Amino acid sequence: MRSIASRMSVMSGEGALSVYARAKQMEAEGRSIIHLELGEPDFHPGPSVIAAATKALEEGKDRYCPVAGIPELRQELAAYLQRTRNITVSADNIVIAPGCKAILFFAMMALLEPGDEVLFPDPGFPGYPSITLGLGAVPVPFELSPRNQFQPDLKDIAAKITRRTRMLITNSPGNPTGTVYTDAVQRGLAELAVEHDLWVLSDEIYARIIYGGEYLSMLRYPGMAERTVIIDGFSKSFAMTGWRIGYAVAPPEVSVALSMMAVNSYTCVAEFTQYACVEALRDLDGTTPKMVAEFSRRREQFIHGLNRVPGFHCQTPEGAFYAWVDIRGTGASAEEVCRILLEDAGVAAIPGAAFGPAGKDFVRFSFASSVANLKEATQRIMKASAAWQGSLVAR
Ligand code: PLP
Repeated sequence: MRSIASRMSVMSGEGALSVYARAKQMEAEGRSIIHLELGEPDFHPGPSVIAAATKALEEGKDRYCPVAGIPELRQELAAYLQRTRNITVSADNIVIAPGCKAILFFAMMALLEPGDEVLFPDPGFPGYPSITLGLGAVPVPFELSPRNQFQPDLKDIAAKITRRTRMLITNSPGNPTGTVYTDAVQRGLAELAVEHDLWVLSDEIYARIIYGGEYLSMLRYPGMAERTVIIDGFSKSFAMTGWRIGYAVAPPEVSVALSMMAVNSYTCVAEFTQYACVEALRDLDGTTPKMVAEFSRRREQFIHGLNRVPGFHCQTPEGAFYAWVDIRGTGASAEEVCRILLEDAGVAAIPGAAFGPAGKDFVRFSFASSVANLKEATQRIMKASAAWQGSLVAR
């Protein structure tokens, strides 16, 4: 009998994409919607990046190209990581892929056996447990709690490690909380990984979007070089979501495995986009610092505005571009709050359970939207809050 493979029934979609679909449908019906659901910068790459893509196309750079990526991009990435993250990596250890998600998927596929346990943050990026389950491995969430400023709790994680634990996933700055893991926490995580001989999958996609301080990659800690796979890409730090380019920095044997994944799936990433990415890394237009400075202004304004909404409480995120709002004070569920915001106020946001059970009392808003949009959104949210204030009074 023809059937869909059973792994598909254990994988899950993304809350952000389903809210986006409903918001788009409402827009098509003539409603005014402010989109704060997707994690997408409202910036575009600078003119030098566009010019590099155009030039590459004009020069006929639209062919099959090296599986792990063109040497120019891998070398530029090694220099960029040294400059911005103070880590020394060889271009040979970098594999280019069509997006961070793709390389995340392939790295997990290359490293996990069925039954292996994978520690990952809850709330966190929905792909971590979904891919784990799809590979027949076992997701083991560790909670990021407001009591702990959303930092991983080392004791809790240590208690969850068993003989089957194979991988620890870290994500700093984190989606959806915006937490930048402290040096002490990362050092502790690295020690646990060494002690229990774990792979560390360090999702550093928001590394450039931090609001102060130096970024500390997991690769900087003792014993990490041979066990860490960094996942990063151009979607967030370079506002290139639709270009679909990501990369992994991995120990030699893992890079070989990732290239094998590439051979068996996407073959190579579009050559001309890779030339554009070389230019993005050089950042002659200063796009990334300008964008981060703008996000920083919006963060101040938006978090302040949200904290004035009755029943909302939001800690100031240290990185990424998400407001992670504790809505327990509203007396309503996060799903109800999001429904009111979308249907009554035309503001699209995501109920926190989309990022794992520990997110159930939270709502995620992206502040990668214009100041005018954020101001209008705050006013609309304030007005809509009458709905839950009414329900509180009625109790
Ligand atoms: N990892 C995290 C933590 C993310 O938030 C996202 C996107 O939202 C991704 C990975 C996927 O990035 P990409 O668009 O490059 O596939």
